[in-house]
Amino acid sequence: MLDVQKIRKDFPILNRTVNGKPLIYFDNAATSQTPQQVIDVIVDYYSNYNANIHRGVHSLSQEATDAYEQARIKIQKHFNAKQSHEIIFTSGTTHSINLVANGFSSLLKKGDEIIVSALEHHSNIVPWQMLCERTGASLKVIPMNENGELILSDYDALLNEHTKLVFVNHISNALGTINPIEYIIEKAHAVDAAVLVDGAQSCPHLKPDVQALDVDFYVCSAHKICGPTGVGMLYGKEEWLNKLPPYQGGGEMIAEVSFAKTTYAGLPHKFEAGTPNICGGIAFGAALDYMNHIGFKNIAKYENELLDYGTEQLLKIEGLKIYGTAKEKTSVISFNVGTIHPYDIGTILDKMGIAVRTGHHCAQPIMDFYKIPGTIRASFMFYNTKEEIDAFIVALKKAIMMLS
Ligand code: PMP
Repeated sequence: MLDVQKIRKDFPILNRTVNGKPLIYFDNAATSQTPQQVIDVIVDYYSNYNANIHRGVHSLSQEATDAYEQARIKIQKHFNAKQSHEIIFTSGTTHSINLVANGFSSLLKKGDEIIVSALEHHSNIVPWQMLCERTGASLKVIPMNENGELILSDYDALLNEHTKLVFVNHISNALGTINPIEYIIEKAHAVDAAVLVDGAQSCPHLKPDVQALDVDFYVCSAHKICGPTGVGMLYGKEEWLNKLPPYQGGGEMIAEVSFAKTTYAGLPHKFEAGTPNICGGIAFGAALDYMNHIGFKNIAKYENELLDYGTEQLLKIEGLKIYGTAKEKTSVISFNVGTIHPYDIGTILDKMGIAVRTGHHCAQPIMDFYKIPGTIRASFMFYNTKEEIDAFIVALKKAIMMLS
């Protein structure tokens, strides 16, 4: 059982007011809040052992290196990767995807096909379009239905011997749909295509097991899982990471450098050029500790209650339409009210201390599908409450009255 009142005490930001009203933070799909336990780790790093890693003989450098590498092991264990060098620290999901897309430039040729889904965030569309421009490969799209679910029979029809890669998010940030990635991976592997799963939205809500999934690449950002911004990870199967060339050149990623020839370091350093976000990596590990302490089963159960309650309350409002009604979804509710512009509602809600996101959520193809400019998106984490949802509904009704 999850004790939400106890948990809320861990998040100092939840005590603040915005525009004179207690903050109600429903923009978790954009960035989650940070518990004191993680803030303490960040303060401890800069107060006590801030130093560059891997190349120092002095104690501070060794302490920082140990903590950073311990964090890598925590991440490995969390995702059940076989080996810690299959975890590459990046600056986040976007960086991780670009790293893989760049690597595939040398592996693809004209005539090859890559598949993305209609539910993707721009960061899981644009790098692949750029990859297609570089290589002459073509991009195919798994379409979605009105409920915001992928049409799997169309996916089956897209797969063939030319398919080299499939990219899909585990959970859609705009609609909350949980995609059937087990099926997608199995079918892709049947034609020898590799699969990258964008876990930016799944990692806050569930605990992926990369070995059980048999996924080739899995990526996420720490800032959506109670960690800091500017750090994330790429999991890649060792065989794939060995096949991909380095993304960036620089210090840390080399074995030997001379003007005649440079040789690269082994995994994971081959992909980690330059001084990384050391503190961020350590805090990422602490954020996973924090979430695992609460327990992902407890988190999912509680967040599903919030999702059901929020959906039920919202649907009582006349003229309100929810986009994304998939059977399998997480605590994201995207909606519009009549013809009122989402931005106007978002602005009034902010005046009442309520943070929601409005707009296309970096998923313009989804908005095009529904023929709307954007939605209002309320997204819940385990520290939100039903009382906050009640206050949100009252505020939303007021905003609708003001704008009608
Ligand atoms: N993919 C999805 C599904 C996302 O929700 C996000 C963040 N909104 C990203 C990718 C990009 O993550 P980041 O900005 O942390 O790189």
